[in-house]
Amino acid sequence: MDSEFRELYQEIIMDHNRKPRNFRKMEDATHRLDGMNPLCGDQYTIYLKVKDDIIEDVSFEGSGCAISKASASVMTNVLKGKTVQEAEKYFNFFHKMVTGEIDHPEEYLDTMGKLVAFAGVAEFPVRVKCATLPWHTMHNSLHGSQDKVTTEENN
Ligand code: ZN
Repeated sequence: MDSEFRELYQEIIMDHNRKPRNFRKMEDATHRLDGMNPLCGDQYTIYLKVKDDIIEDVSFEGSGCAISKASASVMTNVLKGKTVQEAEKYFNFFHKMVTGEIDHPEEYLDTMGKLVAFAGVAEFPVRVKCATLPWHTMHNSLHGSQDKVTTEENN
């Protein structure tokens, strides 16, 4: 990974950790699910409001490390206004990217935007679960699960 890319990664994580977007409880959510990563202590609730297959609103609350919080924050920004099918695509891309299965993530900047900043996580295996926790929680929730997500089962 080149240094410019590494800088982008650090900037986005710092920014979203300091000022998390959509960081609030949602009273009229259609989906709500808790997720935790016991290895790091990350613990979040993800809220979704889905109507006619569109994610009209998405938010989160909870606490954890900078990477998990930034990941949740960027995720909510990306998914708002998208269809459930698009969310599935983002989920699959993100998961592949942070587990190192995408060779040149920087080539996806146009389509995946800030998500690509998290490609750097692949270099830190212990952080992968922090980055994927909000995504697994969102994904399970969209699929109708009511069971609390723990990263032990999902990775
Ligand atoms: Zn963490």
